Amino acid sequence: MTDVDAVVVGSGPNGLVAAVALAEAGWRVLVLEAAGTWGGGLRTEELTLPGFRHDVGATVHALVAASPAFRALDLARDGLALAHPPVALGHAIAPGRSALLHRSAAATAAGLGRDGRRWARVLGGLGERWEGLAESVLNPTGLPPRAPRELLEFGVHGLWPATATIRAGFREEPARALFAGLAAHAVLDLHAPLTAGIAVFMAGLAHGVGWPVAVGGSQSVADALVARLRALGGEIRTGHRVRSLAELPSARAVLLDLTPRQVLRVAGDRLPGSYARRLARWRYGPGVFKADWALDGPIPWLDPALADAGTVHLGGTAAAVVDSERRVARGRVGEEPFVLLVQASTADPSRAPEGKHTVWAYCHVPNGDDRDRTELIERRIEAFAPGFRERVIGRRTMGPAALEAWDANLVGGDIGGGSADWRQLAARPTLSRSPWATPLPELFLCSSSTLPAGGAHGMGGWNAARLALRRRG
Ligand SMILES: Cc1cc2nc3c(=O)[nH]c(=O)nc-3n(C[C@H](O)[C@H](O)[C@H](O)COP(=O)(O)OP(=O)(O)OC[C@H]3O[C@@H](n4cnc5c(N)ncnc54)[C@H](O)[C@@H]3O)c2cc1C
Repeated sequence: MTDVDAVVVGSGPNGLVAAVALAEAGWRVLVLEAAGTWGGGLRTEELTLPGFRHDVGATVHALVAASPAFRALDLARDGLALAHPPVALGHAIAPGRSALLHRSAAATAAGLGRDGRRWARVLGGLGERWEGLAESVLNPTGLPPRAPRELLEFGVHGLWPATATIRAGFREEPARALFAGLAAHAVLDLHAPLTAGIAVFMAGLAHGVGWPVAVGGSQSVADALVARLRALGGEIRTGHRVRSLAELPSARAVLLDLTPRQVLRVAGDRLPGSYARRLARWRYGPGVFKADWALDGPIPWLDPALADAGTVHLGGTAAAVVDSERRVARGRVGEEPFVLLVQASTADPSRAPEGKHTVWAYCHVPNGDDRDRTELIERRIEAFAPGFRERVIGRRTMGPAALEAWDANLVGGDIGGGSADWRQLAARPTLSRSPWATPLPELFLCSSSTLPAGGAHGMGGWNAARLALRRRG
């Protein structure tokens, strides 16, 4: 394709959603992707043994289920199916003792003792109105706000440090630990403002749309997007790393699904100095060290309830989670880190041969950390599931450098496209009502370094595409 209206660089969920949105508006779209396969953080690969399909990046798709972009695209038409684990999340408080987050707020509340009523009222209430919640959090620049009630409610409960909610909002360990583990998805010190917000959002979505996985692996989300793009006449070229804007065909718009460091590499010579300097000040957050395993049987959890959970937080008490995240924010990893584990086969047995399983887990580490954390993570799992190691028949680990080599957007192992502290949420990547625009009229940014930050929701791409259509259409 030489005659194009738009070029999209990078085929993560944001790049692909942008490409489809532009193609649906009648534009001729070319997507250029550095890796050999499209999908970015949605790729699924046989990392360990033949027949074992591992999501190298994202697995849990509450955001695909709730995102206004994905709902508008309705990818079920292109074969995407989501499947729910029996339990969304289990938080291991101590060996044999857990708190469970069910899709049903009432069932969750039943396990949370004296905190159950408050959990059901606040988080169950937001779950019932999840469309407004998703609109408020994932589309935060829309004015006037589409869901003022949910926005206000989210603000009331979410603007605080998670530690404040843990202390003042709940009375017993199960709700406190569950909330702390959810807040740890912010990858910030949980004393920081807004960290309660991520917990409120994640719990609200669990009660509203669940925490499903994509049948066949997250690659199916990317494949459905590419099928739609091609049906609309769009083209995607893999194995094509873009090094400079100069090499792109002329187009009405160029959308970069890249983080600021790469934007500077590709377009720095064309950007005005003041804007380039702001991008150069972009701060990346902590990284992750990830392990993927092929197992010849389910994980032997001491608490059998964890066997049904799609996601398991090996976090211990709320205090332990807070301590673990504070250490990481200060550039260290403790002996018992917060470990986030996903057992996708609880929802989708097609990931592995019959009776076998794929599982992954990561812990947060300082950005660019180069130590092998496999032993630390496996020891943590063994504490809650003695005998885990005996089930391992294949293993693949990836630290920050390997992750970045796999997807250049994972700078220093940061899976969120840059720290999502309040400063970098207010200015993502720069302070503007249209943060997807750049000083070059034809150039737009659409990665998770734009609003609404990390996660496979495609909203950066969706909003960048709509802006491009408005300004360049
Ligand atoms: C281990 C891990 C677990 C995760 N778990 C979840 C989860 O369960 N749920 C969830 O919602 N999110 C999860 N995420 C986060 C989610 O994957 C990301 O937030 C999301 O993929 C970001 O989308 P994106 O389109 O902005 O960028 P990416 O998905 O990173 O895509 C960027 C693409 O651009 C390409 N690219 C980079 N540079 C160039 C270049 N110069 N030329 C051409 N192409 C280029 C890359 O190869 C890549 O394909 C996880 C991420 C990781 C790594």
